[in-house]
Amino acid sequence: MPDRIIRGTADKGEIRFFLTDCTEIVQKTTEIHKLSVSNSYVLGKFICAGLLMSAGLKSENDVLTISTTSDKISGRMVVTVNSRSEIKAYMFNPEYEPDPASEKSGGSIDSVVLGKGTINVIKDMGLKAPYAGQVEMKYGSVAGDLVHYFAVSEQIPTSISLGVLIDDSGKVQKAGGFLLQMMPGHSEDTVRVLEKSIYSFPNFTDVLDMNYDLEKIASDILLKDLGPVFKGEIIPRYKCGCSRKKMQTAAQTLEKKEIKEILEKDGYVEVKCHFCNRKYRFTEKDFGKN
Ligand SMILES: [Zn+2]
Repeated sequence: MPDRIIRGTADKGEIRFFLTDCTEIVQKTTEIHKLSVSNSYVLGKFICAGLLMSAGLKSENDVLTISTTSDKISGRMVVTVNSRSEIKAYMFNPEYEPDPASEKSGGSIDSVVLGKGTINVIKDMGLKAPYAGQVEMKYGSVAGDLVHYFAVSEQIPTSISLGVLIDDSGKVQKAGGFLLQMMPGHSEDTVRVLEKSIYSFPNFTDVLDMNYDLEKIASDILLKDLGPVFKGEIIPRYKCGCSRKKMQTAAQTLEKKEIKEILEKDGYVEVKCHFCNRKYRFTEKDFGKN
């Protein structure tokens, strides 16, 4: 099944919901970056989250970036997605695989890979000052920390489930998740019904693996007693969007002395795009006379 995001409202507009199956994008990301299995789980979850959040962006030019700071290099990553759900991502230490001993003592894979640090969300809405929010990671799961982010930074009661299912050969079998938010003025009854439903909800990827489509997951399981109304779908994709011109601008931010030294040594300056690993080479004439 191709990757999709669906969105809608439930319980007469008191809840808004987003669900995604992004198996192909997560698999593609693991291939682009040659991610270790543990990193595939963690970055895969951030990709699911980024796609779900992108479906709630309001304007055409909005861009959302989720990044982490960490006391471990393996814990640093960046996900950027626009309002068309074109996403790109990278990790600072893509091949990192924790040794089993530290995994045992450190808890979940999420917390072992991410270490101690923060989740940062930037929404660039084409305004002068982008919206920026930050929370400390303390729940040991990407979904838990993002729920915390929504509560603290955006004051929106939110429920998130993110999952990545990987087979023995390291291939992504399923990746996806949901994001539910309570809208202003919601009733306590709605919260109660929803909490009950979420409590008994199985793993998202297990349901995908049973070949349930997103509409069926919403109607038959997650929002069963809450009358979901579907408001459309988005076809997401992995898209970098880098260009020679953009990378040349990046190369020009290097110090002139440094550029000169590299040119003398190698004859060109090579810049690699973090998001797609494409390499661009610039020679003396690209830097002009300066
Ligand atoms: Zn690129």
